[in-house]
Amino acid sequence: MSLVESKALSREAVIDREIGRFGSDNSGPTIVVFAGIHGNEPSGVFAIKEVIQNLNKSNLPFSGQLIALAGNKTALNNGERFIRYDLNRIWQSEIVTKIRNGGLKQNGTNTEIAEQTEIFQHIRRIFENNKPPYYFIDLHTTSAESIPFITINDTLRNRNFAMRFPLPVILGIEEFVSGTLMSYVNELGPIAIGFEGGKHEKQSSVLNHIACLWITLVTAGCIKKEDVPEYQEYYNRLKQQSLHNKKVFEIRYRHKRTEHEDFKMLPGFENFQHVKKDQHLAGNKSGKLCSPEKGCIFLPLYQDQGDDGYFIIREIRMFWLKISARLRTGNAGSFLRIIPGIKQDTDDPQTFHINPKLPLYLIRPIFHLLGFRKAATKNGLTHFIRRKYDVTEPKIYSTEFIDRYL
Ligand SMILES: [Zn+2]
Repeated sequence: MSLVESKALSREAVIDREIGRFGSDNSGPTIVVFAGIHGNEPSGVFAIKEVIQNLNKSNLPFSGQLIALAGNKTALNNGERFIRYDLNRIWQSEIVTKIRNGGLKQNGTNTEIAEQTEIFQHIRRIFENNKPPYYFIDLHTTSAESIPFITINDTLRNRNFAMRFPLPVILGIEEFVSGTLMSYVNELGPIAIGFEGGKHEKQSSVLNHIACLWITLVTAGCIKKEDVPEYQEYYNRLKQQSLHNKKVFEIRYRHKRTEHEDFKMLPGFENFQHVKKDQHLAGNKSGKLCSPEKGCIFLPLYQDQGDDGYFIIREIRMFWLKISARLRTGNAGSFLRIIPGIKQDTDDPQTFHINPKLPLYLIRPIFHLLGFRKAATKNGLTHFIRRKYDVTEPKIYSTEFIDRYL
């Protein structure tokens, strides 16, 4: 049990790991909602409770099942982002494998590992008991003023789902931020997206989360639009706050904040605000931190915890998104093999190594178009890996699959 407080709503709630569930029809989609993976972001907890309560009252036809899980219960109880480790940065496969094998000791000093182990067990049970299609949703809020937006790993399936919402979509966050829960889930096969509702502890963020959840249930096919009288209101609510039309952005740069650099953002930046090249954005003990290029500032950090100082993002034109979708559904990856300086891995055909003499700024967009992500630089070679389940979801998640990965 955990006591969660919303200052925005002047309310408290006592929650278990499973906040609630609705529906039971195993022939429909499975929607899994996470709330409060960052403990200072209680908005999602109150939003999902409200949606489940209304579903219970309304008695409308519902296909599939909705399951809501709490993220960092201890941190939610304390109103802090995390206790020792950021629970949304520790879902790397090595850590998950250790948890699966029972190799990570849970003790009082390792709060997040205990939280992660419990969440992992819940996810495993969901794959054992439910059926695809799966949609995983992670509800967040930001430390800066912000309109609501969506973050995704750039698979075509995530894109298509995310673009049904009248909100800006940020692609490819997994190239810059490692170990998020949604990246981990995405690699297993489901659609997995992050909803940022707005600023921490604002009532409007809770309302935005509620709107996102209803649109999710309709878009995934759990309920019919015409059965939700307030549907258009929810849709318009998000649309009115959005950037005039649906815009898609890619992340170009991240300032990684370290604990001892004395990072301080200049006051007053809002998410998506335009910035110029060399514009002064923040400072640390070495001096000024300036934007490396023209673009929009994204997730400027105005709290003490967190390792993302700020990002610079840039819009991707719809033309390129369409080209990319065409190339990925074809087999255009095969032409990469004939480009000098690009080598396919002998053990893993989904991985390519790039000779350091090739200009990365030209190569990277080609790999992105084709559905690859930059994974790491090893022995001087940059590696690009094809994102799994880009265009199709596994039809079944077999017992063998579950035993191997969960
Ligand atoms: Zn968060």
